Amino acid sequence: MNKQSVTVLGATGSIGVSTLDVISRHPERFSVFALTANSQVDLLTSQCLDLAPRFAVLRDTAAAEQLAVRLREAGSDTQVLAGEAGLVEVAGHPEVDAVMAAIVGAAGLAPTLAAVRAGKKVLLANKESLVMAGALFMDAVQASGATLLPIDSEHNAIFQCLPAGYRDLESAGVRRILLTGSGGPFRTTPISALQGVTPAQACAHPNWSMGPKISVDSATMMNKGLEFIEACWLFAARPDQVEVVVHPQSVVHSMVEYADGSVLAQLGNPDMRTPIAHGLAWPERIESGVGSLDLLKCGPLEFSAPDLDRFPCLRLAIESVAAGGTAQVVLNAANEVAVQEFLAGRLMFTAIPVIIEKVLAQSTLVEPSSIEVVQDADLAARELARQLLPDVRQR
Ligand code: NAD
Ligand code: MG
Repeated sequence: MNKQSVTVLGATGSIGVSTLDVISRHPERFSVFALTANSQVDLLTSQCLDLAPRFAVLRDTAAAEQLAVRLREAGSDTQVLAGEAGLVEVAGHPEVDAVMAAIVGAAGLAPTLAAVRAGKKVLLANKESLVMAGALFMDAVQASGATLLPIDSEHNAIFQCLPAGYRDLESAGVRRILLTGSGGPFRTTPISALQGVTPAQACAHPNWSMGPKISVDSATMMNKGLEFIEACWLFAARPDQVEVVVHPQSVVHSMVEYADGSVLAQLGNPDMRTPIAHGLAWPERIESGVGSLDLLKCGPLEFSAPDLDRFPCLRLAIESVAAGGTAQVVLNAANEVAVQEFLAGRLMFTAIPVIIEKVLAQSTLVEPSSIEVVQDADLAARELARQLLPDVRQR
């Protein structure tokens, strides 16, 4: 078997570490071409010494210099690159077969798009890049012939419930996509108590272990909003074809309903190694390290409608699809700023949707006709969000 040469963007994060766990179970199938991170020198050094990639990239230049010294001292042959240019180089390198896109946030857009444009097999965890540049991103997939495999557990579940080689929802006879979400840690917390929520409480997800940004997004349900947008782009679905269903047990990872009334679901333990292994080996199946789902012990499975008053971020995300233009770019950028401020202890949990709504209201939406337009809208929305912070902090 020819080994697949894999670049892992965001190797030191939650998805990155799970990806390396799956890869190291199958040394006959995969070799690691490049590992990247933002500034985590310690973890990236040990990952490089374990896996001996051709390249290691740190976004932060000073951190990259440190990494190079450490690797040289340890006798490693891994070549160190720095900055966005380094990330783009290892994402689109001719010797790479597959790219795990697992950088968090808008920082993932340029390298993920580089992998798409180079026609790679792209394992997409970085949902923000698709939220920001959906149409351009999907056009680039078409143009290059890249294989785009969803790693977000819900979208991976939907992909698994669609017929192999399906072209579009209509010809596949799909009536609806049922996008499940746990509702996060505050599904039943009294709304009056949400104001005092701390970053540690928001990051303590009941079912999934994830990086800090997506954990906060899960607590506000912005994560489900971003996933709603992601589903529309990935599967060319109209917003009325995607229904968000709250399912606190996170056993059903999403469902597809067909014209004949059949509903297909993908179930499993909540462990990202399942969708990661599915993407890495697709269309084959490999061992992921995830144990069997014990249906007799996972209790009753509950389903309910989301409460949009409790979770205004979900409402704002759904509305941004109807608003069109750069609304999704603005939503994503304002959310990233607000979540960062909340995690730093400078913004109340309940102020996150307030900032986003204000930024959306004050932004001029334009047609996202090029990546430059998207990046300009992203920067402008971040700037506006920062200007509005002092005002919103008083609340
Ligand atoms: P994380 O915070 O644990 O890891 C993020 C990774 O990106 C790290 O390696 C970090 O070094 C790197 N990074 C951060 N900022 C960067 C920058 N400016 N430039 C370059 N690299 C940078 O995040 P995560 O939880 O692994 O999530 C990664 C992506 O996967 C996110 O888009 C998230 O929405 C998506 N995702 C995650 C999960 C999950 O279970 N963690 C599930 C579904 C989707
Ligand atoms: Mg998800």
